[in-house]
Amino acid sequence: MKAVIRHGPGKVSVVERDMPEPGESEVVVKVAYTGICGSDTHRFIEDNPKWDSLVLGHEFSGIIHSVGKHVVNTAVGDKVTSAPLVPCHECASCARGEFSLCKAYTFIGSRIDGSFAEYVKVPAANIVFLGDHFPLEKGAFIEPVTVCLHPILRLDNLLGQTVVVTGLGAIGLLAVQIFKAMGVQHIIASDIVPEKLEMALKMGATRAVNVADESLEDILDGQGGADVVFESSGSNPAKLSAVRIAKGRGTVLLVGTSPRDITFEASLFERITRKELNIIGSWMNYSAPWPGSEWETAVWMLKEGLIDTEPLTTHRFDIEDFQKGLDVIFGGKELFIKIIITPSEVTA
Ligand SMILES: [Zn+2]
Ligand SMILES: [Zn+2]
Repeated sequence: MKAVIRHGPGKVSVVERDMPEPGESEVVVKVAYTGICGSDTHRFIEDNPKWDSLVLGHEFSGIIHSVGKHVVNTAVGDKVTSAPLVPCHECASCARGEFSLCKAYTFIGSRIDGSFAEYVKVPAANIVFLGDHFPLEKGAFIEPVTVCLHPILRLDNLLGQTVVVTGLGAIGLLAVQIFKAMGVQHIIASDIVPEKLEMALKMGATRAVNVADESLEDILDGQGGADVVFESSGSNPAKLSAVRIAKGRGTVLLVGTSPRDITFEASLFERITRKELNIIGSWMNYSAPWPGSEWETAVWMLKEGLIDTEPLTTHRFDIEDFQKGLDVIFGGKELFIKIIITPSEVTA
């Protein structure tokens, strides 16, 4: 089968690899669509040779190609996606359903071979069924939607509330649509890229704020603060701003990664205590029963059209042209949100 393998930072080639064979409790998925995640981007560019031997990729959809002999209720041809985390299912964290906290895990697409290939092997327990009428291309968005839902499902009723979404990559733009579907009255979306702000407005944001020109603090002061801030940019100014604009007893959801050291002035840090803020960190996308309601909710939202992925899919490439996708990402010239790769021809 064809698989994408990195050759040092930023360069890949498509190579021939052995077909994966399912173990007793595993299945092999023929990959129809797979998205390049921000975390993959990091792995493709990092100066670390460990990324030169593994097949990356963890956001994908496809059909069941083969099943292990102990696998039941799964048939060749079923349309599926898969949770990429493979937790131990034995430790105390796993027993509590806190799978993101498992220390004895492996991960499809960062520790074992992932979906930037024609076929990928996964545990049968990780399979999420999409149903016959689900458009497979949308299936590549299930994993990023679950990343949004994981912290959002910890919130109380949002009907009529004010939510700020900072950072309008794929996660932020999906979150805008989820908040819209949940009946949030004011959805204020912020970024520094005008085209992304434009997209957010089309997806249901009630106001788009370019933080290069306008201050979120000024805007939110006039509105009495945000009930919820969904921080998905990973940028330090956005994290500091989140603490300023959240209202008393408001909630800050930290979804973006933290690549740089951050400094809070004492007076700003004290706003966390004085305003009695809820600061919620979010890591991955799982809950009990495994893999969690994030996954079935994501399938439902996409199937019902509550989330539109079409405008987010800014680029599509055949697996042979994978390098072109990376060139878009690392070229820094073209706007992109989600780059979708099509490893296999699947007629379904
Ligand atoms: Zn991802
Ligand atoms: Zn565990």
